[in-house]
Amino acid sequence: MPATTTEELLELHGRIRECTACPLHKTRIQAVPGYGPVTARIMAVGEGPGETEDREGKPFVGAAGQLLTRLLESAGLDRRDIYITNIIKCRPPGNRDPEAEEVEACSHFLDEQVSMLQPDVILVLGRHALSRLLPGAGGISRLHGQRVRRGERVYVPLYHPAAALYNATLMDTLEADMRRVREYLADAEAERSRRAAAVPIGAAADDAASTDQLALFE
Ligand code: URA
Repeated sequence: MPATTTEELLELHGRIRECTACPLHKTRIQAVPGYGPVTARIMAVGEGPGETEDREGKPFVGAAGQLLTRLLESAGLDRRDIYITNIIKCRPPGNRDPEAEEVEACSHFLDEQVSMLQPDVILVLGRHALSRLLPGAGGISRLHGQRVRRGERVYVPLYHPAAALYNATLMDTLEADMRRVREYLADAEAERSRRAAAVPIGAAADDAASTDQLALFE
């Protein structure tokens, strides 16, 4: 479990909101850092904020976000337990694809979020998140629904909810893939417990004392 506190995560969110590292800051209404509890065991990573997210400052609150909430629920997962973010934190004008330089300029923020939360499972939403998080691993049409292990982390590439909104076949596939996530999470948590049990007594940090249990609904 992460030793990160809600305050530390909020401090990172503050830095993201002030970022002017790439030209997207000039056209955004506001940056969209991420949303969810610091204790989340699942992180979901999308492409970038759309119009509604840019207006509201929260990720996945438009049509694709509503679908994401429904898909999570139908797979027995509660969105409020999940930390949701994007590979880029500012909306590209007209919702165009993010450019390589924009992804690169924003990349350290996502790295910081991952190392702060230490999630067991990362849901990789769509091809842009896939090439950022698992470069060279393969395409979304081959990897969707599978678990990809990198170090101690499990990644689950999924079709982007926006792609499934108007495509019934993709929707069926996305629903079926999402239903596997709970099992992947249970396996990943069991694996983490096994690793923790293998650490010599005294070597592990006192997780119970250092983990901030406050939910983050900022
Ligand atoms: N699509 C994304 O990839 N991210 C959002 O936050 C909203 C829509």
